[in-house]
Amino acid sequence: MAESAVYDVVILGAGSGGYAAALRAAQLGLNVALIEADKVGGTCLHRGCIPTKAMLHSAEIADQIRESAKYGVHSQLNGIDMGAVNAFKQGVIDRLYKGLQGLVSGRGVHLIQGRGEVQSNTRISVGGEVVEGHHLVLGTGSYARSLPGVSVEGRVMTSDQALNLDWIPQNPIVLGGGVIGLEFASLWASFGAKPVIVEALDHLAPNEDLTVSKLIERSFRRRGIGFNLGVKVADVSQDDHQVTIRLENGDALSGDALLVAVGRGPNTAGVGFERIGLDMDRGFVPTDEQLRTNLDRVWAVGDIVPGLQLAHRGFAQGIAVAERIAGMTPAPLVESGIPRVTYCEPEIASVGLTEAAAKSAHGEDAIETVEYNLAGNGKSQVLGTQGFVKLVRLAGGPTLGVHMVGTRIGELVGEAQLIVNWEAYPEDVAELIHAHPTQDEAIGEAFLALAGKPLHAHA
Ligand SMILES: Cc1cc2nc3c(=O)[nH]c(=O)nc-3n(C[C@H](O)[C@H](O)[C@H](O)COP(=O)(O)OP(=O)(O)OC[C@H]3O[C@@H](n4cnc5c(N)ncnc54)[C@H](O)[C@@H]3O)c2cc1C
Repeated sequence: MAESAVYDVVILGAGSGGYAAALRAAQLGLNVALIEADKVGGTCLHRGCIPTKAMLHSAEIADQIRESAKYGVHSQLNGIDMGAVNAFKQGVIDRLYKGLQGLVSGRGVHLIQGRGEVQSNTRISVGGEVVEGHHLVLGTGSYARSLPGVSVEGRVMTSDQALNLDWIPQNPIVLGGGVIGLEFASLWASFGAKPVIVEALDHLAPNEDLTVSKLIERSFRRRGIGFNLGVKVADVSQDDHQVTIRLENGDALSGDALLVAVGRGPNTAGVGFERIGLDMDRGFVPTDEQLRTNLDRVWAVGDIVPGLQLAHRGFAQGIAVAERIAGMTPAPLVESGIPRVTYCEPEIASVGLTEAAAKSAHGEDAIETVEYNLAGNGKSQVLGTQGFVKLVRLAGGPTLGVHMVGTRIGELVGEAQLIVNWEAYPEDVAELIHAHPTQDEAIGEAFLALAGKPLHAHA
């Protein structure tokens, strides 16, 4: 095998975690090699965040046309052209991909195309070449899981295939009521379908505050999205025309497509991790809070590190690792302070602890909550959305969590995450002025209420 120069950092995988580490390390003057088997940008850009959000934007437009008469604008939805939806989505991806490639080359990162395999804690082989670094950063990402015995083919698909359909499933079954399942069910409903979600836990959006889950369930029911909660799938079969799933309670459901959205597994098999003695836990790569693995000078970032599988977590981890390699001392990331958004209709946005988690951490009596209904928020009324902003605080102490549901509410998570991560007291936030009429005002109103001086809400 050919040997090349020794880099300061060699990064395996150019997804959100890997490319962020590369860009920051190069910015700090380090000599960086970035190894990628497919395309820079990884899941988020090519098969995740960006394509789903582009399609959900088309979905929002379809909903607006359908409801336009309510706003005095007469228009007619003449159909969804999946070719054009996919072309719009691809255009967004292509522009961002081009920009990202320019950033990587502009910063002087050496991009090596090919599948890498770790040979030691300083060396990765790619094709016939060995790439050597003083530090290795592992960021090989994740793949869509299926269920045991369920093969992804034909009408059974994961998000990878569902993002590229040239047809709209009319009565799809969605396995999993988490983020990806909710987004696809919402998308297909906006495109005129009648999806049914099957979720093994007792609620949709099971990781969110219970009040959020309940509102999503009411909204989805109104939108014609069905769901079966607290039940598991026993088996799946398909023919040329339909997929049938049998549930453990004996019920059966049929549809023209089955989306398996039951979570994402770490992409860590067959890349040499075991060979070099890397500690693994069910395929994930555990790290300390500084993102060091058990091996000297080997770091891990992104979805392979146990925790929230989100692009912005990967970005933050990549930046932090690059800074530590460069000798800086960034603060460890606090997992509960990472903002979370689900882009279904209505959207879900949250940061910090749910009421239940706060009570179990601090005790039942130590927690205060307030829920501000969007019915009292002018901009939300203009948009015609239902929803709320719910705050969780330590009694007499800082804000521990913010939980929101409503059309376009994801855009408010920026302020919410500053409040939670800066451990702001409601009394201090209540003094800040929110522009009228914005949905952002709902955050201000909720804090006024929590500080004991509600304005547009009953005391
Ligand atoms: C449908 C969907 C929607 C999503 N929506 C959102 C969202 O709205 N917001 C959000 O924050 N997150 C979202 N996510 C999650 C987000 O995409 C991931 O958290 C993020 O991409 C993880 O980044 P990563 O760097 O860990 O891995 P990845 O992005 O998966 O990148 C890993 C890269 O490593 C490469 N690689 C793997 N093995 C090797 C090897 N041996 N050699 C060379 N290269 C290799 C892969 O080709 C890949 O490019 C979504 C995911 C999906 C599937």
